[in-house]
Amino acid sequence: MTDSNFDRAAELIAKASRGVAFTGAGVSAESGIPTFRGEGGLWRKYDPIKVASIESFLADPSSYWSIARERGRESLAAEPNAAHRALAAMESAGHLAAVVTQNTDGLHAAAGSSRVIELHGSGRRVRCLDCGAEESRADVQERLEVELPPHCRTCGGSHIKPTVVFFGEAMPVAATEAAFELARACDLMLVVGSSLVVYPAADVPATAAERGAPLVIVNAEPTPLDDQAAVVIHGRAGEVLPKLAELASSAV
Ligand code: NAD
Ligand code: ZN
Repeated sequence: MTDSNFDRAAELIAKASRGVAFTGAGVSAESGIPTFRGEGGLWRKYDPIKVASIESFLADPSSYWSIARERGRESLAAEPNAAHRALAAMESAGHLAAVVTQNTDGLHAAAGSSRVIELHGSGRRVRCLDCGAEESRADVQERLEVELPPHCRTCGGSHIKPTVVFFGEAMPVAATEAAFELARACDLMLVVGSSLVVYPAADVPATAAERGAPLVIVNAEPTPLDDQAAVVIHGRAGEVLPKLAELASSAV
């Protein structure tokens, strides 16, 4: 992590007018939401296929919701951090066209980013798989304290599910198309807090790099795309991003 890396990254951000930020769980770690992989990651505690696959959810929604009740207490109370705010500032300054995120926590919008593509859906909404009725995840959280699994308020069914993409489910078509279109057209791809091992999401930054857009990677650990990046900064998103936003604004 050298100053020249910061200067080079800031220069690329300052020059960009249709940059795209691609974010993962690491951007929200400093808001208190645990990542899946890496130190303190949830996968060291739970088996992902048991917890977040559509098959096991349909077979046993109570098990899913008892873990979601614990996680929801943390994630529904989480606030955007300095990294989310720096990305919103880069959009306001005209450098970023959009944020493409694998996160489901809604924190980019809460920080003020106006164009957010949620590749893995939203954990803020819940939909009934029987009748399609939707309600807010926060409302379900209140019921979880007394009702497992929670039932649909409209039809009484027992398969209400957050609008997040579970293992075994398809990615949302419109969001996926929008993400790849942005990746093909961008003049900078800024990756923040993603292990870049979840596919097809990780193909979004790879596509931008193939098209010749400079790739800037800010992550706590190395990623499989580091070799292709113009600049790699290993560090905490909440510390690195505000510096980059500030350097970029004084570089113009
Ligand atoms: P990941 O958990 O696989 O990887 C997170 C990466 O962030 C790791 O490489 C880690 O080194 C890095 N990291 C951790 N703390 C950091 C920090 N403070 N600053 C910078 N980097 C940091 O996450 P992923 O790549 O996003 O993909 C996994 C899946 O996890 C996605 O599908 C996503 O939907 C889901 N997820 C979402 C949330 C959320 O909504 N906040 C939380 C956990 C997992
Ligand atoms: Zn229903």
